[in-house]
Amino acid sequence: MPGTAAEPIQEPADANDASDTAAPARGKAGAARGKAAGSGASTAAARLAKLGLRRPVDLVLHLPMRYEDETTVVPIAEAIHRAGLGLPAQVEGEVVSNEVTFRPRRQLVVKLADDSGELTLRFLNFYGSQTRQMAEGVRLRVRGEVRGGFFGAEMVHPTVRPVLAGEALPDRLTPVYPSTAGIPQAYLRKAIGGALARTPLPETLPQAVLQGPLARLQLRPLAECLRLLHAPPPQESEAALADRSHPAWQRVKFDELLAQQISLRRAHAARRDKTAPTMPRREGGLLTRFLAALPFRLTGAQQRVVGEIAADMTLPHPMHRLLQGDVGSGKTIVAALAACQAIDAGYQAALMAPTEILAEQHFRKLSAWLEPLGVPVAWLAGSQKAREKRHAVARVESGEAQLVIGTHALIQDTVRFAKLGLSVVDEQHRFGVAQRLALRGKAGVAEAPAAISAAETVPHQLMMSATPIPRTLAMTYYADLDVSVIDELPPGRTPIVTRLVNDERRDEVIGRIHHAAAEGRQVYWVCPLIEESEALQLQTAVETYETLVAALPDLRVGLVHGRLPPAEKAAVMDDFSANRLQVLVATTVIEVGVDVPNASLMVIEHAERFGLAQLHQLRGRVGRGSAESVCLLMYQAPLSPTARERLATMRETTDGFEIARRDLEIRGPGEFLGARQSGEAMLRFADLQTDAWLVEYAQAAAELMLAHYPEAVEAHLSRWLGGREHYLKA
Ligand code: ADP
Ligand code: MG
Repeated sequence: MPGTAAEPIQEPADANDASDTAAPARGKAGAARGKAAGSGASTAAARLAKLGLRRPVDLVLHLPMRYEDETTVVPIAEAIHRAGLGLPAQVEGEVVSNEVTFRPRRQLVVKLADDSGELTLRFLNFYGSQTRQMAEGVRLRVRGEVRGGFFGAEMVHPTVRPVLAGEALPDRLTPVYPSTAGIPQAYLRKAIGGALARTPLPETLPQAVLQGPLARLQLRPLAECLRLLHAPPPQESEAALADRSHPAWQRVKFDELLAQQISLRRAHAARRDKTAPTMPRREGGLLTRFLAALPFRLTGAQQRVVGEIAADMTLPHPMHRLLQGDVGSGKTIVAALAACQAIDAGYQAALMAPTEILAEQHFRKLSAWLEPLGVPVAWLAGSQKAREKRHAVARVESGEAQLVIGTHALIQDTVRFAKLGLSVVDEQHRFGVAQRLALRGKAGVAEAPAAISAAETVPHQLMMSATPIPRTLAMTYYADLDVSVIDELPPGRTPIVTRLVNDERRDEVIGRIHHAAAEGRQVYWVCPLIEESEALQLQTAVETYETLVAALPDLRVGLVHGRLPPAEKAAVMDDFSANRLQVLVATTVIEVGVDVPNASLMVIEHAERFGLAQLHQLRGRVGRGSAESVCLLMYQAPLSPTARERLATMRETTDGFEIARRDLEIRGPGEFLGARQSGEAMLRFADLQTDAWLVEYAQAAAELMLAHYPEAVEAHLSRWLGGREHYLKA
């Protein structure tokens, strides 16, 4: 597409004029002017690149965050009259005095007058050039907020512009762009204005699409919308511009969502072009023997997802599947079965978990299941002794270890797999995009000579999560994933009863612990989250532990937290699993995955400090056996409205999907997914809550364009994404 390609960004001519006086950074920009044009341009380009503005079209798509109305001037008297309303005003007048004073500190004080009155302008940081610019007799247009100062009405650090008498006012709102220190607005405005003037913006949406699936949206031409957004005439609705409901904003958001949908679909298709080892299901193999040895029957939902995963792995294309299932739904066994299929086919399988406690638990469980069947399992974690680690790495590299379980240690450079055919990532939302990519990059399976198979060979990938993704989010962020859902809990579970308990009733809670222990049950006591200080959190955990030890002299109480050396952590978890400890005092290190079915009472202290997803995960540590489980959410009154809402939700439902839906409602999608999850700023303008309705249109358009308009697809992607596409592949 013409105009959007690699044309370098030009230094806007005359960007250092006086229209943005107050910013001290201008001094530097002014100094740079004297140097060779080339170096000036390259520093400018470097600065803009920091904002991600590399091509002219990037500048054109850098849209204002708000506007300033400089289209009118009010008499100074009127501006003074409105002082204190917190509204900016623009006035014009002549400088009547100009003085640098030194009390209480060095500052420039300028007095400006018009027919109606006089106003003081005060500058605490200023350059000599500014003093000259505002010399006596000069006519200035200044914009700022009038405040009642000690010596009368004044503006502190107003925006200042020397003008000639009778100079026309702008007839457009002045855009204020997102920026970083060092890039003055005036500079951005010039650069963007220049780019807008010389960048052709041909329509990327084919007429058949605009008039077909998008007809109801009545989209305006993008070029027109961008011009309007960069310089709206004052009669446009300021409210619609501000809340981004204006039709021009809708066009921009639509195009952005379309780029995202196209690129997600392309990532999906690209995956189809890669090869992965085929792993047929073999009768009588490890898989069959493992199933026969299982102490329980798979639920219907587990059987279904096992079937979906198994079918993917028989294909010569990499699986890219998300396995969703509420806490306790039995995802681990599904992962183990997939691993068996890979091992049966002669490949290695890897399982990565986000915490050492969880990884270790997987290691024990899967070793116990699979080692008796002759599968060598290796363990890799950050805390391992160097010698053990070297040994494990060697077993992975030689291919002797058929199943490898661990934490992030799995994706370190030193780890090379002989023949990785399946990578499983548990609690995938805890990992960043880059980490998930890294495990998949560990293929080591390219046996076929490159001449025969040009396509890249990658392992199958299974991601698991208990955090259900609501539909609109799944459609946008995970369009590239196939999803399997376990929507049934193993039989014999009695629902967890959740109660809210005021902190003051702590003694009763301790009584409940006694009662549970007397019945042979075990108890988790989760210590309060203290976000500001890990040290304080640790201290609280230790104090809670000591209090409980004193209050429960006949019970054995253990303590586990993140700072404990891994061996001790493992020993405590071990004791709890084996019922040598009845009460486990813990920080949130137990949040994910920990599985001790005999535990049936969960106490969460200061539950009001936790988020919904976290509470749901924590509560999911109980209700894993047949005994009735209870979760006591202790809170300290008074509760904030959102805390009240969260706790009420927890009491009302144990359904992870419902909880996720309400969580999304309370927090909004950005926070819900976490920045790392969200495909790295893929969406700058569209908001998945307010603009969710546009997503379906974008999907329809993406499908049609991919099928019939490959050139339009290229043009659209290049305009919107430039080089940012690779983040979608995780
Ligand atoms: P999650 O989905 O939260 O990872 P787990 O895989 O840890 O759940 O399983 C929770 C518990 O349920 C484990 O103790 C597991 O052994 C048990 N479990 C899994 N599937 C079944 C089943 N079909 N029948 C009975 N118990 C099962
Ligand atoms: Mg799990």
